[in-house]
Amino acid sequence: MGRHRKLAVVAASVATVVAALGGAPAGHAAAPPATGPAGDVTEPVRDPGPVTKWAPDTPASRAAAAAATACDGDGTSGKRVQILYAREPQQADRLGEYRATFQQWASQVDEAIRLGAEDTGGYRRIRYVHDASCVPTVTGVVVPTGALADFNTTFTALKNAGYNRTDRKYVLYAETTAWCGLGGGGPGAGDDRPGAENRYNSGPDLATVGTGCWGWAPTLHELLHTLGAVLRGAPHATSNGHCWDDEDVMCYDDGGIPNPPGDLVKSCPTAPENQVDCNHDDYFSTRPTAGSWLASHWNVANSQFLITAPRLDFTAYPALATGATGPAVEAAEYLVQQAGQRPGPVDGVYDAATASAVTAYRQARGLPAGDTVDRRVWTALLAAGSTPTLQRNSTGTNVRRLQRALTAALGRTVAIDGIFGPDTERAVRDYQSSRGLDVDGIVGRNTWAALQAGR
Ligand SMILES: [Zn+2]
Repeated sequence: MGRHRKLAVVAASVATVVAALGGAPAGHAAAPPATGPAGDVTEPVRDPGPVTKWAPDTPASRAAAAAATACDGDGTSGKRVQILYAREPQQADRLGEYRATFQQWASQVDEAIRLGAEDTGGYRRIRYVHDASCVPTVTGVVVPTGALADFNTTFTALKNAGYNRTDRKYVLYAETTAWCGLGGGGPGAGDDRPGAENRYNSGPDLATVGTGCWGWAPTLHELLHTLGAVLRGAPHATSNGHCWDDEDVMCYDDGGIPNPPGDLVKSCPTAPENQVDCNHDDYFSTRPTAGSWLASHWNVANSQFLITAPRLDFTAYPALATGATGPAVEAAEYLVQQAGQRPGPVDGVYDAATASAVTAYRQARGLPAGDTVDRRVWTALLAAGSTPTLQRNSTGTNVRRLQRALTAALGRTVAIDGIFGPDTERAVRDYQSSRGLDVDGIVGRNTWAALQAGR
């Protein structure tokens, strides 16, 4: 986030920019009305000009770091964010030149979401369409001549090309100067209900950035619109789909700031620019304050397009110490965080913050002092949670949790399939026998207590 600096350039007022763009095709007068859940295209949120805090990301400013985004499943199934690049036939194809840049921005967008979740002790990543190496794919689409003059014709062209899936939020880098950014057009249409049935949990939606605004921050901004930020009624919402907490990536003076305050307010002055939901009270919090607006309305942190936990299923849980890296470290960091400690970034790097959080965790759980994750720590971490009685033919997430804990405790692979079958029962009996518990093959209070104590 630190590579962003404020520009001295100030965008003209929204109205002026729209006019300068030749009356952007889907301007308010010409726009179709919001059509609700059954409609094809609802009015997207329109960002007519570069926001001052969006420093340009040109190829010259590309970061060298490899894109590191979260792996999830096969990379294509389920609800995902998919990155596209579109040009018209007469335009040069710049996908080859920009692919790595788009992937880098995808990583930065993901990082901003991860940091936004971490602020409230949670874990969220973007579930991208990705390849076998977990790198987001970028697919080129050639749309009909003239299509990129307008949001609706662009979206229609994409849909005609097959990018019409209800389980996709599309991020489109468009070879156009017809807009800075636009986000929406899908079934969400302002739905502020808090539950899983919220229409922002469906697509297709389109978050598109025009060439004049290509960069990670505008991408994040438009993507957040498609995920349901910022809705009317949020404490710091403007009347045009944004907010007035200055440092927030969704907040800028869009002409709709209520009075008071009448202007942007520096609500999070020590936080980085372009953060996700300054103070976590308008659209994104993994732990909204009880009684707050966000606790009873749509919260982007609950979006089904986000990953809520790293991979936890392994065939073995290796001992970890400072310097270790990889998916098992990320799992340990996540579990330590869920246990109320602060391991720093859940990023798969066992650094000083991770070690310090593990030390605190051991102390809190009455485990032997130390800063490593060993068999006992793994067992306690993996077993943490509710303690329902589990036995033959039990199924579900609690069985998976049991199977992970047994894998760590016994030091042998117990298949993590959520089904309490003969192998799981054998493992339970072996565990009970080796720990001096009653050997009945049933996981009740005492067996859970032993696992959660890291025995
Ligand atoms: Zn916007």
